[in-house]
Amino acid sequence: MQARSLALRREGRRIGFVPTMGYLHDGHMALVRLARARSDIVVVSIFVNPTQFGPQEDLAKYPRDFERDEALCREAGTDIVFYPEAKDIYLTGHSVYVVEESLSRGLCGATRPGHFRGVATVVAKLFNIVLPDVAVFGEKDGQQLRVIRRMVRDLNFPVEIVAGPTVREPDGLAMSSRNKYLGPEERRQALCLRRALDRAEALTRDGVRETGSIRAAMQQVIAEAPLARVDYIEIVDDATLEPVKTVARPAMAALAVFVGKTRLIDNTVLRP
Ligand code: AMP
Repeated sequence: MQARSLALRREGRRIGFVPTMGYLHDGHMALVRLARARSDIVVVSIFVNPTQFGPQEDLAKYPRDFERDEALCREAGTDIVFYPEAKDIYLTGHSVYVVEESLSRGLCGATRPGHFRGVATVVAKLFNIVLPDVAVFGEKDGQQLRVIRRMVRDLNFPVEIVAGPTVREPDGLAMSSRNKYLGPEERRQALCLRRALDRAEALTRDGVRETGSIRAAMQQVIAEAPLARVDYIEIVDDATLEPVKTVARPAMAALAVFVGKTRLIDNTVLRP
């Protein structure tokens, strides 16, 4: 992959990159189209990265379907699908990691210890392998996007980061490979995440600024879904990801909720 990218770059081609864990959906495809519009060659990686999963998490059962993914990639105008094996990404004795020390502390970083160390490490490695000019990430993983932007800034990666808006199912559920785990009743109740964010947006529009009341209202929406259990609900400064007491500047309302055994995340930016 790296040799091919070096050759392409020598020919003056601009490489666009979309890193994924596969089991692709329209959210991923929208990112591929953004990459397509900004580059000559589009690379999609499909790699379920073991270092970003905790010991009790769903690494082994994470959904996989390479043939379907490859077909979707081709349809969306992907030139190269990079599909490495874990043993080739992490050689025996691998001992170097990338640790972002500020933005990754809270939210998913707090409830999934080591997660962003795994994410930053694999993205840094993939950048060094694929050598992209531009890489596209989804706003659905809002904290991840911000951690990657910070890594690129602080480690001087010559990569432009482009964000793609969250793509949703017609009823509002954010598309996710993990939605496949949901049974019919769980799928119905999974809408509570979007509903909680709608509630936060409505309250902000109505002039409510205290994040305590906004969070309580979000909590209440989740409580109405009996199969849902809150992992976290936070309202944080959009730039620093520090919790805020009032929405005085753009703030990210972010939540992680278990619906049955499936952990789902979603977020929106609240603007005063
Ligand atoms: P994943 O395969 O879940 O690791 O996601 C790969 C990339 O797709 C990440 O940049 C995600 O933020 C992005 N992504 C996942 N779901 C969505 C979605 N519903 N809308 C937009 N981007 C998404």
